[in-house]
Amino acid sequence: MNLELSDEQAAAKRLAAEFVDREIAPHATEWDRTESVDTAIVAELGEVGFLGLTIPEEYGGSGGDHLTYCLVLEELGRGDSAVRGIVSVSLGLVAKSIDHYGTEEQKRTWLPRLTSGAALGCFGLTEPGTGSDAAQLRTRAVRDGDDWVLSGTKMFITNGTWADVALVFARTGGEGHRGITAFLVPTDSPGFTARAIHGKLGLRGQATAELVLDGVRVPDGARLHDAGKGFTVAMAALAKGRMSVAAGCVGIAQACLDAAVGYATEREQFGKPIAGHQLVQELLADIALDVDAARLLVWRVADLIDRGAEFAVESSKAKLFASEAAVRAADRALQVFGGYGYIDEFPVGKYLRDAKVMTLYEGTSQIQKLLIGRALTGVSAF
Ligand SMILES: Cc1cc2nc3c(=O)[nH]c(=O)nc-3n(C[C@H](O)[C@H](O)[C@H](O)COP(=O)(O)OP(=O)(O)OC[C@H]3O[C@@H](n4cnc5c(N)ncnc54)[C@H](O)[C@@H]3O)c2cc1C
Repeated sequence: MNLELSDEQAAAKRLAAEFVDREIAPHATEWDRTESVDTAIVAELGEVGFLGLTIPEEYGGSGGDHLTYCLVLEELGRGDSAVRGIVSVSLGLVAKSIDHYGTEEQKRTWLPRLTSGAALGCFGLTEPGTGSDAAQLRTRAVRDGDDWVLSGTKMFITNGTWADVALVFARTGGEGHRGITAFLVPTDSPGFTARAIHGKLGLRGQATAELVLDGVRVPDGARLHDAGKGFTVAMAALAKGRMSVAAGCVGIAQACLDAAVGYATEREQFGKPIAGHQLVQELLADIALDVDAARLLVWRVADLIDRGAEFAVESSKAKLFASEAAVRAADRALQVFGGYGYIDEFPVGKYLRDAKVMTLYEGTSQIQKLLIGRALTGVSAF
């Protein structure tokens, strides 16, 4: 086993770190305060190739393996989770689903735009009444000649008001997961509305929206994969998506460590830097341990994917551990900052607010435990 990065991987990580330090980190506090990331960053992310990672070059992608993808997402998460989320959703959940399940026409229509940042995607699974139990979703798609007509409401959709295409999961058949079909819905379709959701605890710079589909008509060519296979599309996207959330969490935890070590060596109390007090060192050591453990779990998932091996349960483990670790790291970093951690002149409060949602979306921590428990025992406790 060799944990050393290849030259290409190390170069991608360096490029991402420089991009983040130049284009993202200096603006993160302002974007958080104003509740809006400057969306010009999307085209820049496209230009530098980060929106096309793992997608074949013939569709505008920048190729690369999944470890490279995780290294870049870690750096983006270090800079601003709101920006990392844009990439995780538009590339990770939408473009990668199109690449995997799409027809040639769907790939040619959407992938060059998504990978260049000319368009953004959003992923519409959650509904007001169905979150963890997504298989019970109620948005309907009814066949009408060569078209489908979609009606329903989607909740908490990342990139919702920015997106050009929504990957929407709708019921075309009976109850349960076998009755669900996936559709690529242009967001300028008549009957499609995105309403911004404000007042979030974290990820304030990111557009989160409620999507209302009121008789939205799409051709059968907008159907992604077979009718009745939508849940397969969603679960496959989320299995990889959990790895990308986990990679972002490693970035948050690393940012917490960098900030806490920097502050602890400068701030003096009792006549010496607080870093010289053993209980402060304990906080730093605990953060460092979480960073390393979370990163290794993420790298294992990437390695499994790149070797074509089964990875879904390992992805759940990485997401569960890394998201809880990011919350712990941010809490400890804030403690190191004392009262200064509690105001947004320093970033650690934002790290804590941003980290919390990682334990909630793409399957809560409880749901990850049930997935791991089911794999261990063969018994579903859902
Ligand atoms: C900022 C943000 C962005 C999001 N982005 C997207 C997006 O882009 N696309 C999308 O589709 N969704 C998105 N979501 C939705 C997110 O995935 C859901 O919020 C999440 O899946 C949980 O669903 P819920 O909120 O309905 O909670 P619920 O499912 O109602 O869960 C509430 C509580 O009950 C627990 N629980 C539920 N079932 C069980 C069980 N069987 N056993 C034990 N405990 C259980 C949960 O763990 C949780 O603690 C986003 C959410 C947020 C907050």
